[in-house]
Amino acid sequence: MSDETSDASASSIPIVKLRPRKAQPFFGRHPWVRDSGIDKVIGKVQDGDVVQLHSDKDRFIAYGLINRNSHLRVRLYSWDQEQPLADEFWRGRLERAILMRREMGLLQDDTGCRLVYSEADGLSGLIVENFAGHLMIQVTSLGMYRRIESIAAILTDLLQPKSISLRGEAGILKLEGLEVESRMLVGELPGEPIEIVENDLRYEVDLSEGQKTGFYLDQRDNRRVAASYLPHNAKVLDMFCYSGGFAMNAARHGGAASVHGVDGSGPAVSAAQRNVERNQLNNVSFEKADCFDYLKARVDAGDKYDAIILDPPKFTKSRRTIDEALRAYFHINRHATQLLRPGGILVTCSCSGNVSRDEFLMMLLGVSQKTGRDLRLLEQRGAAPDHPVSATCLENEYLKCFIASVS
Ligand code: SAH
Repeated sequence: MSDETSDASASSIPIVKLRPRKAQPFFGRHPWVRDSGIDKVIGKVQDGDVVQLHSDKDRFIAYGLINRNSHLRVRLYSWDQEQPLADEFWRGRLERAILMRREMGLLQDDTGCRLVYSEADGLSGLIVENFAGHLMIQVTSLGMYRRIESIAAILTDLLQPKSISLRGEAGILKLEGLEVESRMLVGELPGEPIEIVENDLRYEVDLSEGQKTGFYLDQRDNRRVAASYLPHNAKVLDMFCYSGGFAMNAARHGGAASVHGVDGSGPAVSAAQRNVERNQLNNVSFEKADCFDYLKARVDAGDKYDAIILDPPKFTKSRRTIDEALRAYFHINRHATQLLRPGGILVTCSCSGNVSRDEFLMMLLGVSQKTGRDLRLLEQRGAAPDHPVSATCLENEYLKCFIASVS
């Protein structure tokens, strides 16, 4: 943030002027200004610089950060002309985000939570997660990347973390013209996995090797709620189990008689096995297998379960491949439905942001028709509240978790 000071007068900040009839979404606080809406840039800018967005009639709309390599040409942060994007502004936004999680009770010494979720926290391009005092940052915008050292300094001041690490992002070069390599910003990572507690269960989290940030925090409440719907003494299948979250909640909080988890990743299955030992659960087992094949084989064998959890990875990154993704969802949901005894519980999730809730429900409708089974939706859930959705940027909503009774 070296080149912007809080007393920089608005008049010295370069102007991005919109084309006629393009301003309305931004007066409405949408944060993404695409290149197609822009008429011209007035003043000299470098990528990552602060700009002010003006309508074609020269009315101030908001302050943002420009990146000419990105399709999201300007990301907007402040709609208050008296609040340019200086250190104090970023500090305020980070404080606000952290306070909200603190008030939710998610900032204990031994827990994990998402502290900052990009647009939902007014910080487009920045994600910060806390794992028992170790902060992991992901940046998905060049503007945030240029300010990463200052952000780390503010986070250090606010939270005194044990470490702060930056996690590299593979796809970002193409989207933002930016290469981010994993590195430490503050302190050191411990040489071995750390432990976090969630829903009274202990998990090892490997901050250096794990997928994503090593643990899927967004499913915290869904794991617990799914367990609460299990029939008594249920035989449960947890598909795409990763480190065993749904499976362990089913055993500890859902009174399951036996739980079997399946995942295609060897390291995930090994971590899940260690987690079960860590929590002294003796009725939970895991195996490494492809879940598509596994479900099909169980159907062919005529097996039955009382509850099945489906939490697959993102099946599509773009609207272009939506049909393939819906077919894949249909496939696993159909097999899972066939495997459930009447009255069984299906917990079915999708983290593909490109697949809408309605499309996912239509897919379930198709499953019901194809299998001749009634699916009654008991709950329609989203991500845990430390992954909020901004009312002015609904594009960020991605996680769906439906709990259904299958007759
Ligand atoms: N339910 C987990 C998160 C699942 S993330 C939790 O609560 O933490 C999706 C998981 O699907 C990943 O662990 C990935 O290894 C696994 N996966 C992806 N494709 C798979 C496939 N075809 N068969 C089995 N597992 C798969």
